[in-house]
Amino acid sequence: MARYTEANCKLCRREGEKLFLKGNRCLSEKCAFDRRGYAPGQHGQNMRRKVSEYGHQLREKQKVRRIYGILERQFHNYFEAAEQKKGITGENLLQMLECRLDNVVFRLGFAPSRKSARQLIRHRHFIINGHIVDIPSYSVKRNDVIKVKEKSKALDIIHIALKESRGEEIPWLRLNKASLEGELLEFPKREEIMIPVQEQLIVELYSK
Ligand code: SF4
Repeated sequence: MARYTEANCKLCRREGEKLFLKGNRCLSEKCAFDRRGYAPGQHGQNMRRKVSEYGHQLREKQKVRRIYGILERQFHNYFEAAEQKKGITGENLLQMLECRLDNVVFRLGFAPSRKSARQLIRHRHFIINGHIVDIPSYSVKRNDVIKVKEKSKALDIIHIALKESRGEEIPWLRLNKASLEGELLEFPKREEIMIPVQEQLIVELYSK
């Protein structure tokens, strides 16, 4: 499985905003963007380019890709699938990304970041509707029940992440902290997807 392996903090610095890719570190004084809030590289500090309309659209697409940790080809596939669905393409796209298993595990609070969630899933710590699922891109359906595997319930990373998470406050998910299980109640509406992006710019980019 191809994946991005370089420093995550460079991605925030490239996008010019915090993408919160590293769990609690992002809220601490160690955040690289807070310390060096300019683009990475030798000329990053002096970069003052005027951004074109295309540039804005491209940056918005890159930002979403980076937040969800998806490579270009796969992201484009999501866009094509979103176009085929009824409704607004941009919203469909975000809804599909939110329903990826790695995102749902992160939103429930079982992992401190989507990257950690992917690793936990790959290591077969989760069961959906009674079956182990180890595919981070698995698309969670309405009423799917996601459980931490019995043998994995003692994992510190899950308990620490849960203590610091806001999983109980996500309206489209149900979380039971005691039994370490969650359920997708409804597909999320746009206003329930808390990421600061203008998805319409991505639609315009791909419509060229
Ligand atoms: Fe981005 Fe800061 Fe988190 Fe690094 S620590 S991923 S720079 S928000």
